[in-house]
Amino acid sequence: MRIPILMYHSVSEAADGSFGPFAVRPGDFSAQMALLAELGHATLTVADLAVRLVAGQALPARPVVVTFDDGFKDFMSHALPVLAAHRLVATQYVVSDLVGATSRWLDDVGEGGRPLMDAAAVREAHAAGIEIGAHTRTHPRLDALAPDRLHDEVAGSKARIEDMLGAPVTTFAYPFGLYEGAREIVREAGFAAACAVRYRTSFPGDDRFALARLIVRRDTGLDAFGKLLDGDDASLRMTFDRTRAAAWRVVRRAMRRG
Ligand SMILES: [Zn+2]
Repeated sequence: MRIPILMYHSVSEAADGSFGPFAVRPGDFSAQMALLAELGHATLTVADLAVRLVAGQALPARPVVVTFDDGFKDFMSHALPVLAAHRLVATQYVVSDLVGATSRWLDDVGEGGRPLMDAAAVREAHAAGIEIGAHTRTHPRLDALAPDRLHDEVAGSKARIEDMLGAPVTTFAYPFGLYEGAREIVREAGFAAACAVRYRTSFPGDDRFALARLIVRRDTGLDAFGKLLDGDDASLRMTFDRTRAAAWRVVRRAMRRG
């Protein structure tokens, strides 16, 4: 069984420069969620997926996991109402110490001022059935950190978001998808699963601490989106090459800073 795990960032008309590919237009997002619902896919959160994989429980027919990284504020205005209208669930990965602030880690690509959800918004999304996961405290590149700081970024973000929600936080997403070297720390911190990127469809036997995700980009047309849902291998390979090239351009610029 294929488990496409979709990865979004911002849902917004506005996006500058190299961050542009990671801001999906609100109209496109609406169309994508409408298509997903129309095709009869069942959404589940990463937390729910993890529980089922651990317990060996059956998954719903045509499962799809919808994830958002970074906790951009536009999730509240452009994504949450659409998800609610279609009765879809999703997972939002927030950067615990930047809740209510801006995407400072994107300073070098000119998008360091994008507003992030504040604590009230995080709680509102959680109350609406959205899973809130951890995406570190400050969005560093994890493979560049000393062990103490790595542990603090991972376990610290879990504790801070749990305080914010008054509820457990059970899944994690690696900044920039960099999971090697951080995987064991994430497992030891008590998470049940973690999302990488890896540009392919997930399968039930996959490593729960490096789940593969598929990036939905600004230029992902509705046909291509449908193929992501189907796990169409040929189109995935094409998407892989183009997405990887663009993603790494952004990542490299963001990293030059540190
Ligand atoms: Zn991120």
